[in-house]
Amino acid sequence: MSKTKICLVQIPYGFNWKMISPAAGVLKAVVKNAGYDATIIDINSDMLYKKGEECAPEQGKGEEYTPERLRAVNANSYARFLEQIDKEFLNKLDQDVIKILAQKAQVLAFSIYFRPALWPSIYIAKRIKESASSLIVAGGAAFDRSVVQFLGAMTPPNSIDLYCVGEGESVLVPLLDAVDSKPIPMSNGKVWAQEIAGRIAGLGVPENGIGINITNGIAPSSNTLDDLPYADFDDYNLSDVTTLPLTIARSCNSACTFCSSRKTHNSFRMMSGKRAADELIYLSEKYGIHNFYFTSPIVNGDVIKLRDMCRIIIDSGKSFNLSGLVRLDKRMTFNDLELMYHAGFRWIKYGLESGSPKVRKSMGKLSDQDFCKSFMKQTSAVGITTEANIMHSFPTEDDEAFQETIEFLDKFSVNELEWNAWPFDLGLTANCAVDYDFIQRFNIRLLKNNGLFEGSHTFMLDLQWENAIINDSVRAKREEMMAAFRKNWLSMA
Ligand code: SF4
Repeated sequence: MSKTKICLVQIPYGFNWKMISPAAGVLKAVVKNAGYDATIIDINSDMLYKKGEECAPEQGKGEEYTPERLRAVNANSYARFLEQIDKEFLNKLDQDVIKILAQKAQVLAFSIYFRPALWPSIYIAKRIKESASSLIVAGGAAFDRSVVQFLGAMTPPNSIDLYCVGEGESVLVPLLDAVDSKPIPMSNGKVWAQEIAGRIAGLGVPENGIGINITNGIAPSSNTLDDLPYADFDDYNLSDVTTLPLTIARSCNSACTFCSSRKTHNSFRMMSGKRAADELIYLSEKYGIHNFYFTSPIVNGDVIKLRDMCRIIIDSGKSFNLSGLVRLDKRMTFNDLELMYHAGFRWIKYGLESGSPKVRKSMGKLSDQDFCKSFMKQTSAVGITTEANIMHSFPTEDDEAFQETIEFLDKFSVNELEWNAWPFDLGLTANCAVDYDFIQRFNIRLLKNNGLFEGSHTFMLDLQWENAIINDSVRAKREEMMAAFRKNWLSMA
């Protein structure tokens, strides 16, 4: 073992989702394979829920929802977060700091899954810096280049030293090698961090955003996912965990106009069917858990590999309950749905987004209306719970197209389809990215960027813009219409 120790910290991200995130498990296995001593500290918790006497079962045990805390973690600056956050929350973070410090790790890698975890991360980082010289690097699903450029300028001094954009597997080992060959100085660690950021692709110091190192590009891809070690979740308390995550693909081989999956990662890659099935079987035997959620953007980027995985699982005779996101794709057949069912798929979510072929085409999605409808109905008919995401008020959606979405959904019964609808907003794009390419593509003129939008669950910019069909009042009216339609549709059950 090398002398450098890394502690991977799963930052609380404040959503009532009891599943652990896959990233830290894979990263731990990778750095251990490279000879480094690695531990995961899982401080994730439902930060939006305080202990309480009564609560609805879905809100978790003995906890109650606190909207004030939601507002605080979604403040538009660190100073505003400190003004609004309650003492009980900070006490919890202080306890977490003690746990992290006890690891005496030279490098701390924060995994930040959602934007609301950013201010708590900074608080933790600042507390750690009061008594330790650990280098703190933050990365995760919340970051792409533009987010880091923006947030970099908002990160206070003596907190997070480095941001990482791209795949941590390609960054952490060279970073640990650098620390091993030149220990972090007790003072002037900032200069050291800058020097490192200049050498390792995908790392940037917050003062300048990752932009200063952008010539290095985002962190390179792990070339073949088949070579990655199996995830190591040993440090998690799994007593309450019923579903494990598994990432079988990175990025996406589609190109939806609003989506940033190709910006947070490099090229599309997917594990071979055998490698994916082997890890699934290994993890389920090791941890005694049979429910898996595939955290890749989609599970059918490579249909051949998906079929291979399903066949190997079926041949293994093991029983699973599998779920994940699937793209509506004409390479898929009815037989594929049956195969997926027999492999254990019981829940699939489609990013349908609109019931209008014209709007779907402008989104870069499959526009064939009949195929989308019949494939979703077939999914339900084979026994897989079928869900669709709808993103109304897209810049190309006129009133007629909005109506088509309602008519499309109306062709399904409550037993056939679950769906949720949310309005598209320029300040919010998939994977939390702020996608200026998108703004240009639709010839939207950005008048002003007021900064972070307060109170939003996810990363959202408060933008003022013009030239699009949709404005705030149209969006609000459609939200009302969609809610009324949904109420009526549900009552038909
Ligand atoms: S929205 Fe889904 S299918 Fe489209 S590019 Fe993003 S991940 Fe791929």
